[in-house]
Amino acid sequence: MKIFRVGGAVRDTLMGFPFTETDWVVVGSTPQQLLAQGYTQVGRDFPVFLHPDTKEEYALARTERKTGPGYHGFVVHASPDVTLEEDLERRDLTINAMAMDNAGHIVDPYGGQTDLETKRLRHVSPHFTEDPLRVLRVARFAARYHHLGFTVATETLALMTDIVGANELAHLSTERIWTETEKALTEQTPEIYWQVLKDCGALTALTPELVVSQGVAGLTRAAGFTKRPECRWAALLSDLSSERAEAVSGRLKTPNAFSSLARHIAEWRPKMKTALRQAENCMTLLKGLDALRRDEPFDGFCETVRALEQNTPEVIATIECLRRARDEAATVSAADFTDQSLKGPALGAAILAAQIERIDLILKK
Ligand code: ATP
Ligand code: MG
Repeated sequence: MKIFRVGGAVRDTLMGFPFTETDWVVVGSTPQQLLAQGYTQVGRDFPVFLHPDTKEEYALARTERKTGPGYHGFVVHASPDVTLEEDLERRDLTINAMAMDNAGHIVDPYGGQTDLETKRLRHVSPHFTEDPLRVLRVARFAARYHHLGFTVATETLALMTDIVGANELAHLSTERIWTETEKALTEQTPEIYWQVLKDCGALTALTPELVVSQGVAGLTRAAGFTKRPECRWAALLSDLSSERAEAVSGRLKTPNAFSSLARHIAEWRPKMKTALRQAENCMTLLKGLDALRRDEPFDGFCETVRALEQNTPEVIATIECLRRARDEAATVSAADFTDQSLKGPALGAAILAAQIERIDLILKK
């Protein structure tokens, strides 16, 4: 049995790029052998095991053959006679298809090192088209390494366009699409993910709303000023109506923190100017953001607005004013009115009037 480091850990080691997890491939072994050594099996469809101590993933060398549509239309063949080169061939990009042995020797049958030098994201083989998730993965790697000068190879973009044209993205589960998308939102230049998806036609298939919007431009502006993925998501959808923003989040089944912030940005950001001119409008906005009771989505809203305006002195002043208005309004409490024996709606109205009065003082400063 021989064990090699594979995939991202090898790629990022050669690039000098930070990484956290290491994947391993085991050649010339069987599930029984690994189980006998204390590994535990995790893959349902694939022979993947966890190391007894490190809990890192060890996969038996395998080949995959496409037999039908979708994620389950694969025949996986793992046996002791599958070679390292055969295992590497089923991988997506050449820079992801290298292995490293214990002594640090690199096994690189598909030109991954050359592609690292020429900064090319290039597919390993024509079998690339067999898994539509690769469209999203390549877009994500493009977003991660764009600042280092990496681009998608023309031939690979052509294959991605073929995958989209064959309507293969329809076979991806929403969960897998969102998992890649959420990761992409944390990359250095997340807008490149959307740009690459646009270039291969996937944007039309996945989020047609974004094809004609200025959302990608919004994300491009904001990404340098916020690392929070929810804020970046909200920036991407900031150009849509709140209904359409909601529709995009709903289709991708995003977590609530993403969908609600995006909805709040789409709905309330256009109303900020009038809110800061008039105390009643300001109170309506603060209530819309539930700002008097909770920190979120208000903090996320402020961060996204600031990022979209690229932290200009004007937007910083605007946000500060909004925060002061919120803090002032929050000092009003029902206890202030105990001597007036007000109840129910009358008490509510009195509190609101007092809050608006305080906000008015802030806005006039
Ligand atoms: P990351 O740094 O994001 O973890 P990674 O390259 O390690 O990047 P993983 O999802 O951890 O990505 O997968 C490990 C390796 O498995 C990849 O480098 C690639 O060789 C292979 N791989 C993963 N998913 C696919 C896929 N859908 N198609 C082909 N190969 C894949
Ligand atoms: Mg990895």
